[in-house]
Amino acid sequence: TGGLLAYAESNVENEKKLVEKNQLVSEKKRVVVLGTGWGGTSFLKDLDISSYDVKVVSPRNYFAFTPLLPSVTCGTVEARSIVEPVRNIIKKRSGEIQFCEAECLKIDTENNKVFCRSGINDNLVGHNDFSLQYDYLVIAVGAQVNTFNTPGVMEHCHFLKEVEDAQRIRRTVIDCFEKAVIPGLSEEERRTNLHFVIVGGGPTGVEFAAELHDYVHEDLVKIYPSVKDFVKITLIQSGDHILNTFDERISSFAEQKFQRDGIEVLTGCRVISVSDHFIDMKVKSTGQHVEVPYGMVVWSTGVGTRPFVKDFMGQVGQEKRRILATDEWLRVKGCNNVYALGDCASVDQRKVMEDISAIFKAADKDDSGTLSVEEFRDVLDDIIIRYPQVDLYLKNKHLLEVTDLFRDSEGNERKEVDIEGFKLALSQVDSQMKSLPATAQVAAQQGTYLARCLNRWDQCKSNPEGPRRFRSSGRHEFLPFRYRHLGQFAPLGGEQAAAELPGDWVSMGHSTQWLWYSVYASKQVSWRTRYLVVGDWVRRFIFGRDSSR
Ligand code: FAD
Ligand code: MG
Ligand code: MG
Ligand code: MG
Ligand code: MG
Repeated sequence: TGGLLAYAESNVENEKKLVEKNQLVSEKKRVVVLGTGWGGTSFLKDLDISSYDVKVVSPRNYFAFTPLLPSVTCGTVEARSIVEPVRNIIKKRSGEIQFCEAECLKIDTENNKVFCRSGINDNLVGHNDFSLQYDYLVIAVGAQVNTFNTPGVMEHCHFLKEVEDAQRIRRTVIDCFEKAVIPGLSEEERRTNLHFVIVGGGPTGVEFAAELHDYVHEDLVKIYPSVKDFVKITLIQSGDHILNTFDERISSFAEQKFQRDGIEVLTGCRVISVSDHFIDMKVKSTGQHVEVPYGMVVWSTGVGTRPFVKDFMGQVGQEKRRILATDEWLRVKGCNNVYALGDCASVDQRKVMEDISAIFKAADKDDSGTLSVEEFRDVLDDIIIRYPQVDLYLKNKHLLEVTDLFRDSEGNERKEVDIEGFKLALSQVDSQMKSLPATAQVAAQQGTYLARCLNRWDQCKSNPEGPRRFRSSGRHEFLPFRYRHLGQFAPLGGEQAAAELPGDWVSMGHSTQWLWYSVYASKQVSWRTRYLVVGDWVRRFIFGRDSSR
């Protein structure tokens, strides 16, 4: 073999030995999965459980289709329509997956155990502690809201992370209207009650603002006509633009649409604290403090690490990191047999420059001390699998041929390079590394990837030389995880949406909203939820949204 994937192979070999050792202890390997969100359920859906004894721990016994949470806040879609019981999802013909409605409190990597507590949701019964033994642990617990320690946020703001949050927001919006029409209030007080503030101009904040605007102007003003001119929606963003992870065209389209709609967008502003009636906000450019009275605040900025994951990071020598790190095979760094995926972890992509000498040596097949264009071309595919940034670099620089990489400083083509020349040629590729976004798309692809690895693990044992497909090419069967970006949507209200699709394709407007409807209908986890969601959309078109509290 070329040896380029040597790093990977040695690790997999080690784990294979471990597997064989464990094999003596119990027949089926015990897999414990923490979390039933996007990552956890996609893993469970694809896992072949005939060779594993699988236990799932999650404090919620359902999967929630988070992209439709903003629609739940305004009753466009009902909460019940976007959740699917975990037990339905994990029902399998080939065996049983055990589910425990509990929260994991601690991971003990020394003894391969997790400690859990059930009954946290249930105040009446009290809780029950138990532990589970694992051979493989899959951590897919997602992230929690991040207040950046801003005073008052926990106490006074709404979040939009869980189904309960969305339902609470829905009730509060109606409450604000009911409070605003109480007799005897001053106009100022009515305005304050109807001031809806969203902190955070990312996709969730923007979508919620748009959804709320539609709800207010299509439904609520008709039933609360006396206060319709007092309603105001404000979006506070600390950066210079909203939707700044999207293409510039989308972000300015959104800003213009919001301006036309009368949604005020305050960019370059930071929330300093939140009290029960005011937001204290600082305008970054002038340093000036502004007090903003509000009726309701929705806090929708970044996500943070859960405390028990932080604690676990300390155990495995990752205390200095902000987020749990795994290698490209989704193995948690610093321990064995623990995998992490989705929002709770991030893949630490290895740099080309760290391995440059090894790559050069492996590629230089004739040991001539120089690398010819042909030698490099032979290994490029392997390099790209191991270091996807090389592929991005070639694409972004519009380099079509390997020879383009080998050009000298005057732009002349070279037939071969020595190690120094090779270092120079690849010196810029690591700048293309980007951490993966915290999205459902990433979590789901990682879940599927990991399930396939575990499914094949068993095949490997009965067929140690590996499937023929890989044998001939000399490649190992466990390729690193590779993310495929399928694009992203930003619904902007008024039956309009923006989308960014692969190949630098941007589309905006009404037709994109229809694309959005069809994509999100097709992505539903079951026919049942698909039927319910589409039914809700139809109901909304015909009757409008429900506005009872
Ligand atoms: P989650 O889906 O959050 O799942 C975490 C699971 O772990 C949950 O089941 C939770 O109950 C469980 N858990 C928590 N603590 C514990 C514990 N101690 N022990 C055991 N289990 C635990 N992404 C997109 O790609 N497109 C979108 O349009 C989109 N829209 C979004 C809209 C909103 C309002 C939100 C909040 C998110 C949106 N996302 C979207 C992001 C997407 O939801 C997340 O990236 C995705 O959920 C991450 O999956 P996960 O499995 O890592 O975590
Ligand atoms: Mg999950
Ligand atoms: Mg989820
Ligand atoms: Mg992640
Ligand atoms: Mg050579």
